[in-house]
Amino acid sequence: MQKTIIVNAHVISPDVDMKDATIVIEGNRIRKVSVGRAAAKASANVTVVDVKGQYVMPGFIDVHTHGALTYDFCDADPKAIFEIAKAKLQEGVTTFLPTTLTVSHEELVTAAKNAKGYDEAGQPYAKVPGIHLEGPFINVKCCGAQNPKYVRKPSVKELKAIAKVYPVRQISYAVEAEGGAKFAKACFSLGVVPSCGHTGAKFQDLMAAYRNGLRHMTHFCNQMTPLHHREIGMVGAGFLVEDLNTEVICDRIHLCDDMLRLVFTRRNLAHVQMITDSLRCSHCKDGYAFEMGGLKVLLKNGEARLVEGNNLAGSTLWMGNGLKNVHDVTGIPLKDLVRCTSWNQAIEQGWGRRLGKVESGYVADLVVINPRTWKPSAVFVDGQQRI
Ligand SMILES: [Zn+2]
Repeated sequence: MQKTIIVNAHVISPDVDMKDATIVIEGNRIRKVSVGRAAAKASANVTVVDVKGQYVMPGFIDVHTHGALTYDFCDADPKAIFEIAKAKLQEGVTTFLPTTLTVSHEELVTAAKNAKGYDEAGQPYAKVPGIHLEGPFINVKCCGAQNPKYVRKPSVKELKAIAKVYPVRQISYAVEAEGGAKFAKACFSLGVVPSCGHTGAKFQDLMAAYRNGLRHMTHFCNQMTPLHHREIGMVGAGFLVEDLNTEVICDRIHLCDDMLRLVFTRRNLAHVQMITDSLRCSHCKDGYAFEMGGLKVLLKNGEARLVEGNNLAGSTLWMGNGLKNVHDVTGIPLKDLVRCTSWNQAIEQGWGRRLGKVESGYVADLVVINPRTWKPSAVFVDGQQRI
């Protein structure tokens, strides 16, 4: 069996901060993580990788990302998912859920078909175990960058039809919509994580869905009801209800630093998931211009803003930079924060015993990060060095 030995690693894994570590990988699994330099000699079936004291973390899991490198998952282009997966891998993302926008049913089916095509090609970059539908069952008043023209009521039939083409792992929808509470239960029977998002729900609307199993909130604070002292809304719910898994865009733009501090110091970190929610303009250079729902967007200083009105159009964030941002803003140790970039997502998706930790028995999905630049310098997927 092919063996890889990573030496001189600074392992950062949930509750672990281990310098001078050696990681032994056999096949696609981590076999051993230990302190000190074990006898590591390269041979025909043994590769030794000296990472020179850089961080080695669990490969990131991004459950919410739309695109990169000018491609959007909803482009009716089979190449898009390949290019996005390639870009995500460069970020250190080893698993992600390509995320759709609120578009027509036919376009959603096409996106699912393209994901299937990527799977049939052997998933050569980051892994795509399923997709995330953001919409179309959202609140027309909380569309954000989603097109209100395609908003519709929750439909189990439509969800089933898409999931038949390629697994749907998550759906973001407005719980206050007609049948919204029951819809959560139907999602579970299809293996889909229901999430409340793009929502004008009141606290009691959320609790009705909660009683049907819903435990996830899409980009917490963005496009949801704010906290008010007589109706605590979705933001209040996120603070009151501990086991809601809240997605957070940690680019220091979508949430201000004080809000990041509030979320990461007051919420149970076992229920916070960092996401990028990145658009096609991520991994692109300043000056890149594109259209979204008929509106012109320009990338300037790394921020995607509407040409008219200068409103924020979306994120260009990389997963690792989100982690760095929260670490800088809150001072919380990386070993405590790192569960928010992979393990929490893995647990919710049912992969918690094999993904999200640098630990013996776990799948060798790893990212090596330069602690000075925070750029990934190597990425392993299933024990194979892909970058
Ligand atoms: Zn999104």
